[in-house]
Amino acid sequence: MKRWAPLAAALVLACGEVSPSGLAEPEGSVAVIGRAALDGGTPPDDAARAEPDLAIESPSDGATFAREGIDMGDWVAFVDVELSAVAVATVELQVDGDPRTRIESPGAAETVTLTLRGNGPRTLTALGLDEAGLERTRDTVTIEVTPPDDGSCHAQLDALGVEWEPAGPHQGIADPVYVQPRFRSVSYRYVSRDEPSRMLMDCELAPRLDQLAQVLEELGIDEAIHIGVYNYRCIGGGDPDSGTCTPSQHAYARAIDLWGFGLAGSDTEYVLERDWVITSGATCPGTATDEADRVLHEIGCRMYEDGIFQTILTPNYNDAHRNHFHVDMIEDRMFIESSVAGVDPDVPGLGH
Ligand SMILES: [Zn+2]
Repeated sequence: MKRWAPLAAALVLACGEVSPSGLAEPEGSVAVIGRAALDGGTPPDDAARAEPDLAIESPSDGATFAREGIDMGDWVAFVDVELSAVAVATVELQVDGDPRTRIESPGAAETVTLTLRGNGPRTLTALGLDEAGLERTRDTVTIEVTPPDDGSCHAQLDALGVEWEPAGPHQGIADPVYVQPRFRSVSYRYVSRDEPSRMLMDCELAPRLDQLAQVLEELGIDEAIHIGVYNYRCIGGGDPDSGTCTPSQHAYARAIDLWGFGLAGSDTEYVLERDWVITSGATCPGTATDEADRVLHEIGCRMYEDGIFQTILTPNYNDAHRNHFHVDMIEDRMFIESSVAGVDPDVPGLGH
């Protein structure tokens, strides 16, 4: 990696803005105005005869659920809600009064899996609506969400199904682990190796690689090609112990440099140095010139928007990053941008 000046790091701190959290958006309003008038039909015979009824069969009132699953980096409780419905047009399921999901034309038995974050009591309410969107029946239970028994990073890796083992002490790494390079269907391979190999990192980096793998899967990618995680050095080089320079996040094994991505089922690779087209203006969403450029921009922007990483330096950023995404987890410098005037050398087409 080439040098980038400490001044650049200082400027990074002043840039960027925080994206919304990954919490689920509540769904829209309950009422469906005018639906009955539009439909205008006669309800089926069985619906006409039966009284509307809706029950939460499970969980039972007072049930307790530990947050022992992982969703987008958080400990969560996955709660299966089993519903029975008779003669209702729509079921709306609410958590603490906020609509979470709707089932149109529900069957007699339906199951919805809720993802619950945070601890404490939760009121689950199922509303049975008629064709006009009016409430005809409801059922409510209150459950309790509790913390995970073991909320450690190691337990998180186990919950994700990541293969890992503790590594011995390594200078700069708070919680060193060796991680097998396969996350979901995505392998992480060092650029000069033919095959993926185990990776040394701080434990807290591994769940982020799992989140990134989730995004890459969506994009049809099964290989992330990288150029390094751990390197005990300062930003731009130098000895972190000298006290005269700023340690890189690579010194703590809490960053990864992503060089390219391989498409599943083909030999096609999208490579930052070749395929990312430097443009002026904001990096996200950018103005992609072709499919490879579009996919690379989508990866870079999703890593930021989904909060997978907080610092993302792209080829747009500066001369030291033309051939990779540098990504790390420094929370207070949410950053993805184009270039920094006065720091980045003049490059044709790069917005200053
Ligand atoms: Zn880096």
